[in-house]
Amino acid sequence: MIQLYIPLNFLGVIYREIKQSLTDLDKMFTLMDKEREVADAPGAQPLAGLDQPTVRFEDVVFAYDPKGGRTILQGISFEIPAGKTVAVVGPSGSGKSTLARLLFRFYDIQQGRITIAGQEIRSVTQASVRQAIGIVPQDTVLFNDTVAYNIAYGRPGATQDEIEAAARAARIHDFIASTPKGYATMVGERGLKLSGGEKQRVAIARTLLKNPPILIFDEATSALDSANERAIQAELQGVAQNKTTLVIAHRLSTVVEAHEILVMDAGRIIERGTHAQLLALGGRYASMWSLQQSDASA
Ligand code: ADP
Ligand code: MG
Repeated sequence: MIQLYIPLNFLGVIYREIKQSLTDLDKMFTLMDKEREVADAPGAQPLAGLDQPTVRFEDVVFAYDPKGGRTILQGISFEIPAGKTVAVVGPSGSGKSTLARLLFRFYDIQQGRITIAGQEIRSVTQASVRQAIGIVPQDTVLFNDTVAYNIAYGRPGATQDEIEAAARAARIHDFIASTPKGYATMVGERGLKLSGGEKQRVAIARTLLKNPPILIFDEATSALDSANERAIQAELQGVAQNKTTLVIAHRLSTVVEAHEILVMDAGRIIERGTHAQLLALGGRYASMWSLQQSDASA
């Protein structure tokens, strides 16, 4: 009995250790069946100066397949000043989500530089980059674990009160509380199946709880109906206050207040400026805007 007990217990400890040492993204990679594409430079140090960091892309050129593949970003430069929000709009396939993936250092770039607080992200540890950024992606992947675990991910040791506060802010608390096991409910293939909108809210709660200095919202409320979208938009704007934020948006109403709006097409920035400047320009953004206004009133 005792001989059986010890090894099993030992395995349990190892399993927990492995589980806790994995970062969000390492685990996501496994879930998405992607291989790890980047490695820490020898002697890499963690990012420093993370109190309201500035984020900068300088002439970034990128292809998913560096060996002669299609170039996806053709020399992208922009800056998100400390604590400000920059928004990216443009047609599907123009490279918006790629910007988010590169800032997270899912992939390394072929030319140019990406810096956070003046440090090139490929020269510091990946773990520290990922720790500094909260991302609400287009398609949220949840772990086959409890709702509480999924929300607390990124901030191990969060209390039940903190988890619930985040869930309330993301407007998912009432739904969780209505399930028989509440926050102990298992989600995923073997548990509770969540809709796209519910998963997105779990991801929003997770990000609120992680409370990182840099935020990325990739069409973060696209899976929600418009009433919920407006409510959560307001919440996200509150959270983004004083944080360095990249918002990728398909609904232009969410980018009006941005410090700068970048309009992308085929891997280039074709227009940039504030909402008022871009309307005055009368170009692509202005026509997207009038199209959405007429859609909204239809
Ligand atoms: P957006 O978010 O603006 O819709 P993406 O940044 O997701 O666009 O994609 C930009 C381009 O990169 C698209 O042509 C897309 O097909 C391509 N792409 C996206 N992900 C990958 C990948 N993992 N491998 C190869 N090509 C990709
Ligand atoms: Mg996208």
